[in-house]
Amino acid sequence: MTFETTGTSAARREPRLLRHYIDGEFVAGAAAFDDLSPVDGSLIARVCEADAAAVDRAVLAARAAQRAGWGTTTPAQRADWLHRIADGIQARFEDFVAAEVADTGRPLVQARTLDIARGIANFRTFADLVRTAHSEFFETHAADGSELINYVTRKPLGVVGIISPWNLPMLLFTWKVAPALAMGNCVVAKPSEETPATATLLAEVMHEIGLPRGVFNLIHGHGPNAAGEFLTRHQGIDAITFTGESRTGSAIMKAVADGVKDISFELGGKNAAVVFADADFDAAVEGVLKSSFTNAGQVCLCSERVYVERPIFERFVAALKDKAEAIKVGSPYEEGTTMGPLISQGHREKVLSYFRLAVEEGATVVTGGKVPTFGDARDQGAFVSPTIWTGLPDTARCVTEEVFGPVCHIAPFDSEDEVIGRVNDSAYGLAASIWTTRLERGHRVARQIETGIVWVNAWFVRDLRTPFGGTKLSGLGREGGRHSLDFYSELTNVCVRIA
Ligand code: NAD
Repeated sequence: MTFETTGTSAARREPRLLRHYIDGEFVAGAAAFDDLSPVDGSLIARVCEADAAAVDRAVLAARAAQRAGWGTTTPAQRADWLHRIADGIQARFEDFVAAEVADTGRPLVQARTLDIARGIANFRTFADLVRTAHSEFFETHAADGSELINYVTRKPLGVVGIISPWNLPMLLFTWKVAPALAMGNCVVAKPSEETPATATLLAEVMHEIGLPRGVFNLIHGHGPNAAGEFLTRHQGIDAITFTGESRTGSAIMKAVADGVKDISFELGGKNAAVVFADADFDAAVEGVLKSSFTNAGQVCLCSERVYVERPIFERFVAALKDKAEAIKVGSPYEEGTTMGPLISQGHREKVLSYFRLAVEEGATVVTGGKVPTFGDARDQGAFVSPTIWTGLPDTARCVTEEVFGPVCHIAPFDSEDEVIGRVNDSAYGLAASIWTTRLERGHRVARQIETGIVWVNAWFVRDLRTPFGGTKLSGLGREGGRHSLDFYSELTNVCVRIA
């Protein structure tokens, strides 16, 4: 399967059919749905929709593969497999780039430097981590004078169900597939129905390198009352790892409750950026520009709430406005495009409803708030312009609810304590970024912010060995580095009397 990286549209005359990958074979089903380009609404592919029977076959195949030997492979053997998967992606790098760009409309450079590069890095990182993982060991002295040693062994969980979103398809899908396989699990994975392409290519890579059948199973389809829910309700699954909206996380939690499955959730956010008057002004403007508008604001870590200390407020708003207006919105296939469309017409409707709501709530629209017109096929796409609001109270829905588009609200603040309180006064707790040149202030504020991730003078810099996840509505548990190794394995404490 290949996608084009040139031309005004990724569409071809004959739409291909993206199939499931179950028990080492590509299989179709009775039903299929359209995968549409967000750039111009054209048909990219038809995608098979897994019914309950297909999900069942995938789970049974995964269970069988687990018992047939994957679960007892050594860490070194699995590390080798992970490197071979990474090599396989590398060998088809431009196919992956083209597929990601076709599905999402994001600029080519982003797909190359972030999405696909990170997909490879995910496999290599967890290959290295599993090879070097070590166990805890304790010498214990009991009350009766005896001596014991305690150590911890790891076993795979069994079969892991993986459900991922559309906003960073390859990056987030592999972020879970890689550690799950590394720890000896077999997987049944469902990418978002909006972005099925790179996951299908990944299945092709698994097939090409000869990964044992059933170890990696891919099912396509929708969420509620469909493939996603069939997977979460399946009793043959040992754990579910999910990235997506908070309310979907809540629905999945209910679905897995009866089976008391392990869960790991990476959910929504309403992240804040805090700019102190002592910040390096240009670096802060550039940083907030990135944190608000990267990937058309469709990164869970994006800042939709920006707080700027009052002495520099007006100057900051003016500078960010200038930069936002210089963003080149357009097709990823045009030279110089820095922002593509939203993922779909449906998602654009949601974002536009917030554009209207902001005006009703009394916002000043500093820039944007519109649908750009192009006079060509892109008018059938899902574009909006980068948008900045000011003047809303902290209680406004546009300041409290996740929009997930290229938009931020900027508000002034007067003191450190005040801004910490306002940042924390949120139902979400995923990430925050702080811009200051005072070292002690950066540390002091970071430790008081109630989020899973805090950046100081940086944004979206990820060392894959560090814990990743959110507090409150933003998630449950942490993945990354040894935290992933812990989630994707069952720990047993062995306690041995030696004297
Ligand atoms: P979504 O919750 O609508 O869908 C995510 C996945 O869940 C899709 O594969 C979908 O088919 C499936 N799904 C939907 N309902 C389901 C159900 N009832 N049972 C089982 N599966 C179901 O999310 P989205 O719109 O694809 O992604 C955007 C959201 O993801 C945003 O809220 C964003 O903040 C969040 N996100 C969070 C992180 C993070 O790391 N915290 C990262 C990326 C995105």
